[in-house]
Amino acid sequence: MTTRSILVSGASVAGPTAAFWLARAGFDVTVVERTDALREEGQNVDVRGAAREVLRRMGLEDAALAATTGEQGTAFVDDQGRDVAAFPAGTDDTSGPTAELEILRGRLSELLYEHTKDDVTYLFGDQIASLEQDADGVDVVFASGREQRFDLVVLAEGVNSRTRRLVFPDARKDHLGMVIAYLTIPRQDDDTDWWRWYVAGKGRGVNLRPDDVGSIRASVNLMTDVRGLDELDRDGQVTVLRRAFEDAGWAAPRILAALDDGAPFYFEDLGQMHLPSWTAGRVTLLGDAAWCATPVSGIGTTLALTGAYVLAASLAATEDHRAALADYEATMRPFVDKGQSLPPGTPGLANPQSLAARRVLWTVLRAVASRPAQRLGALAGRFSPPADEFELPPMPAR
Ligand SMILES: Cc1cc2nc3c(=O)[nH]c(=O)nc-3n(C[C@H](O)[C@H](O)[C@H](O)COP(=O)(O)OP(=O)(O)OC[C@H]3O[C@@H](n4cnc5c(N)ncnc54)[C@H](O)[C@@H]3O)c2cc1C
Repeated sequence: MTTRSILVSGASVAGPTAAFWLARAGFDVTVVERTDALREEGQNVDVRGAAREVLRRMGLEDAALAATTGEQGTAFVDDQGRDVAAFPAGTDDTSGPTAELEILRGRLSELLYEHTKDDVTYLFGDQIASLEQDADGVDVVFASGREQRFDLVVLAEGVNSRTRRLVFPDARKDHLGMVIAYLTIPRQDDDTDWWRWYVAGKGRGVNLRPDDVGSIRASVNLMTDVRGLDELDRDGQVTVLRRAFEDAGWAAPRILAALDDGAPFYFEDLGQMHLPSWTAGRVTLLGDAAWCATPVSGIGTTLALTGAYVLAASLAATEDHRAALADYEATMRPFVDKGQSLPPGTPGLANPQSLAARRVLWTVLRAVASRPAQRLGALAGRFSPPADEFELPPMPAR
């Protein structure tokens, strides 16, 4: 096979995973990441089903299992922090709201980077400024002024991908009507190793989750149809959160105090990407940039790892990039469709407006968490995304 050059844009989960498999298949791979260094932010992400198998085939499963957050399960709590309904973590590749392989996004990204950095050229602190493609390749001009021609460009820049706008100008996020603010706060004595989730009413949720570095990952979520909150500056976002959560109860005051103390946070307006095609000529989309399912799906990282593997397998199988990219899409599309199809009423049902609706939700959760229901397998069906409903294609030998 002639060596073909591939530029991957984005070094979080999808990008480095694609880079690993593409380099192994003999491609000359460059990864460009907009930030100056690997990003550390982010909270617990799940690796389930087919994606566990991808890590296994990369030789990274043990390292990932050794770096899990130690989350014991998911407990819905009342305003005193007492359990309403508790779901222990899954004990296999796929099941439960807390997965067996629950890892900080930044930690997973670091593992992937360390595993690829000797075989791949990484460019940090740069990004694609413009690209122009013809029948034989893509001319890329980087923001730094660097110019380079590649045979193929893969955009793994996440849900708000900027370069996607250059190639797919009509792509729009389908908003779910929910914003989430994620932050890291100091751990205190009464914190536990469970994901504790307080349904606060008025479309709000307050969450505390353990990590493996001695802090607590907190998040607050709010149902709202107001757009543009993610475009406000920090002070504007803090004001919105303060107004929305001042009477929310449980851990909300602690989280608001951390915001006042300057805790860095990441604010996301949740939305899915639904594009009719992920490919335009020699440019293709991967991961959240292509098909973001949102954090409430619990399957975004699984789809990113799996899609990266499938893309590389398709490209390694033929020198015809058109056939390869069509194969990648045909293989991934049904899995992505399943992953994006959220249970009816998501995310509104889990974030009710009234306290009466919360009482109903808690009654249902108690019933589902009860031992007879767990024995009947009701839990796995309700709370596990369909991560095992996919068989990885073989990776062609070099
Ligand atoms: C900082 C951060 C925190 C996150 N926190 C959570 C979380 O707490 N819970 C959760 O469920 N999911 C979180 N996610 C999303 C989660 O990582 C993804 O849903 C999933 O893992 C798929 O990853 P991805 O590689 O496709 O995209 P992402 O993880 O979104 O990564 C995209 C990467 O591309 C880079 N990038 C963006 N634009 C450009 C550009 N123009 N040029 C070059 N590089 C670019 C970004 O800096 C980032 O490194 C987070 C993502 C990020 C980037």
